[in-house]
Amino acid sequence: MASEKPQRTPNFIRNIIIKDLEQGKNEGRVHTRFPPEPNGYLHIGHAKSICLNFGLAAEFSGLCNLRFDDTNPVKEEEEYVRSIIEDVKWLGFDWEDRLYYASDYFKQMYEYAVQLIKKGKAYVCDLTGDQIREYRGTLTKPGVESPYRNRPIDENLDLFERMRTGEFPDGSHTLRAKIDMAHKNLNMRDPVMYRILHAAHHRTGDQWCIYPMYDWAHGLEDSIEGITHSICTLEFEDHRPLYDWFLDQLGVHHPQQIEFARLNLSYTVMSKRRLLELVKEGHVSSWDDPRMPTLSGLRRRGYTPESIRNFSELIGVAKRESVVDIAMLEYCIREDLNKQAPRVMGVLKPLKVVIVNYPQAEAEYLEAINNPEDSKMGTRQIPFSRELYIEQDDFKENPPKKFYRLAPGQEVRLRYAYFIKCVDVIKDPQTGEITELHCSYDPETRGGHAPDGRKVKATLHWVSAADAIDAEVRLYDRLFNVPDPTSDKDQNYKTFLNPNSLEILSNCKLEPCLADAKPGEKYQFERNGYFCVDSVESTTGRLVFNRIVSLKDSWAKIEKRL
Ligand code: ATP
Ligand code: MG
Repeated sequence: MASEKPQRTPNFIRNIIIKDLEQGKNEGRVHTRFPPEPNGYLHIGHAKSICLNFGLAAEFSGLCNLRFDDTNPVKEEEEYVRSIIEDVKWLGFDWEDRLYYASDYFKQMYEYAVQLIKKGKAYVCDLTGDQIREYRGTLTKPGVESPYRNRPIDENLDLFERMRTGEFPDGSHTLRAKIDMAHKNLNMRDPVMYRILHAAHHRTGDQWCIYPMYDWAHGLEDSIEGITHSICTLEFEDHRPLYDWFLDQLGVHHPQQIEFARLNLSYTVMSKRRLLELVKEGHVSSWDDPRMPTLSGLRRRGYTPESIRNFSELIGVAKRESVVDIAMLEYCIREDLNKQAPRVMGVLKPLKVVIVNYPQAEAEYLEAINNPEDSKMGTRQIPFSRELYIEQDDFKENPPKKFYRLAPGQEVRLRYAYFIKCVDVIKDPQTGEITELHCSYDPETRGGHAPDGRKVKATLHWVSAADAIDAEVRLYDRLFNVPDPTSDKDQNYKTFLNPNSLEILSNCKLEPCLADAKPGEKYQFERNGYFCVDSVESTTGRLVFNRIVSLKDSWAKIEKRL
């Protein structure tokens, strides 16, 4: 798997920060934040944002906060808060004592809103949601001013206070910014700042029945925390004038909003809403199903934090949307595990082999290398005996041309062991199915080399039958059949789910050194790929492995497809 490591990708945000520092902006401070809404588990797209925000802070001796943007009580839950904390830590980032909740700022935000009302820059509106939309106009048509727009300040103050104390039902009033109903940017046409929602919040309980809208809240959160660079995804570009307007009107600390293109990954979906749907409808087992692009799913599958951080660096930061080939993520985990995962032998679809000329009661140990990439990982002893397992696919009774593996009369090498030759094929008399192979071995080839210099064209992995550990192995394929399941607007993305994304092999035979394999441990099964002990399904006496990724695809091959 030798391959050239791709160059570090340019990062325009890094350049902005360097320039700001040169010009002495923000007293030379760099302070970023990662602001998830706790309405789902984090996915690989969030990892990009986490690596970017924490990475830039670290690079410039700055700080990065973890902030829960929990301004919407309806979809948010404690479970998500817990999982997000776990995932960011797992990725390797530390917010020290700077864990914040937007809901802690509700009172401050309310006071800021009162300030805007007093300045004549916000008003209470009685239009319904539908009316507000209707009055907003379109890109080609200016909006219409609300009949409540010119309410006297005192009346606005009184109504807003009564909105807060719970006098009005949901949807009956909103607080809106008074900007410009003819503004070419629709976000500036008197956007809603507060709505009434009689709903309990996961942290503030029933304390509030008005909740701030994202655009109003987000800039205030950044400002209160002294953020210098507020990095967000591209869909907020059109919201930046509003972000700026609110902070300018209040005259408070004004962070700079910078947008970048969100990560899209081929053969999967990334929005939390869709991922939740897959979980709720049972298309996957849970948020941490190893097929999910969530950090908990990737972790369970066997991805390492290093591989995800490297991936984030590799894909870079751009201003233009694109879809990243999932092969790049797979490349990153292969690169990482190639260096650190011990090699073992595991037979996924076993076929019994009897070495007919090997003494009945005998057994021996052979030396095997734990990682050819790292001699410090040493060697181990693997048992060899008269009965073994090899892969069913490594034998063909009627081999096509160029099939160099085992076939009647054909000689192959058993890895670290001996040359063997197939002498007989035993079948079930009823079904005709091959039940075992009889082979002879050449005792002179111990260690896998013939003293007479004769060559074989294939080396097979194998496991001694008497010593084998039983395990279940789960093979995964793409979650979706098509690279971009959400691009076709006429077809529900779920119609592109791959029905064969999970294959369970329940009769696998592994080398005995895996008897004590612990949840989360990762190995290369020679020729079969990288595998991780499943942390949910594995219990005492039951070993379940997830295939993280197969062995193929060097960088050169991936690059050709990009
Ligand atoms: P989704 O659309 O997947 O539900 P979101 O943007 O609603 O995600 P938030 O919890 O609001 O999720 O996001 C937290 C941070 O992560 C934000 O700064 C957001 O811009 C960033 N982020 C979310 N998705 C991606 C992505 N695919 N690529 C890069 N950054 C992302
Ligand atoms: Mg969101």
